[in-house]
Amino acid sequence: MKLRWSFVAWAVAVALMAAGCNGQNNANQAKANNKQQTQSTNKTSQEQQQAKQKGTAAVQQADRETAGPTPPLEGGKERTVRSPHPMTLADLREKYHSTFLLNGSTEKRQMALTFDDAPDANFTPKVLDQLKKAGVHATFFVIGNRAEQHPDLIKRMIQEGHVIGNHSYSHPNLPKLKDPQFQQQIIKTDNIIHSLTGYTPKLVRPPYGNINEQQIKWLASQGKKIVNWNIDSLDWKGLDTKEVSTNILAHAMPGAIVLQHAAGGKGEDLTGTVEALPEVIKKLRADGVELVTVPELLGLPYK
Ligand SMILES: [Zn+2]
Repeated sequence: MKLRWSFVAWAVAVALMAAGCNGQNNANQAKANNKQQTQSTNKTSQEQQQAKQKGTAAVQQADRETAGPTPPLEGGKERTVRSPHPMTLADLREKYHSTFLLNGSTEKRQMALTFDDAPDANFTPKVLDQLKKAGVHATFFVIGNRAEQHPDLIKRMIQEGHVIGNHSYSHPNLPKLKDPQFQQQIIKTDNIIHSLTGYTPKLVRPPYGNINEQQIKWLASQGKKIVNWNIDSLDWKGLDTKEVSTNILAHAMPGAIVLQHAAGGKGEDLTGTVEALPEVIKKLRADGVELVTVPELLGLPYK
């Protein structure tokens, strides 16, 4: 992992240099534009007259020369049409950085494996088996209506030392919901988890990682933390063992939160996730990484 750190430092340096070059390019471009402008104001009236005579064709030609081959946006310019600007997830993460988390401190050599969408009868037990065999505690963001279907698996997670978080009741795209519907998704799932585990989870992971500002504020008012991830195994694409393991190991870094799935929908195959686990765990440990739950990684309570 040492190599990767120096690579990060190198990448930052290159990015800074590129930004510098870009600044220089912009300055040169501005100079060129000024020159062009001066030349055009020095045009004689005769030249202007000639240009007029060339009519529309000349204007179109000039437009093509200055604007290049990129066609205009049919609906209008971005800055006039896209107003007011909605806050992006990145803006929201920055604004609510103590509520909306993606990773832990980079000071400690720790990472957290997280699994979404559980429980199901097929993949969840296999993931639990792998974690048990390796002696790793993970964090499961469970779906309320699935927990209702497989209560024993929720109890098993607790017995085996894992932490449970709320991943909504029916996995909707939360920003599309009205406030009462959204709140019900969280409250209903909290109640189900509480009835099975004896605690109300502090951690929430929104389906697809999507959430809006109003919803973040409400969760914060309930003392919840929103936990997304900074390493996506992309296992939801049905990748094979090698691909899943590479996606995780290639991005491994202290404080990372890894997104994986422990239950699939109809026709979804998470064999890659299950079979990648032994190698991922072994290699991270060989690299001196301690695998912990999200609350341990973030220094937060889980209930
Ligand atoms: Zn999900």
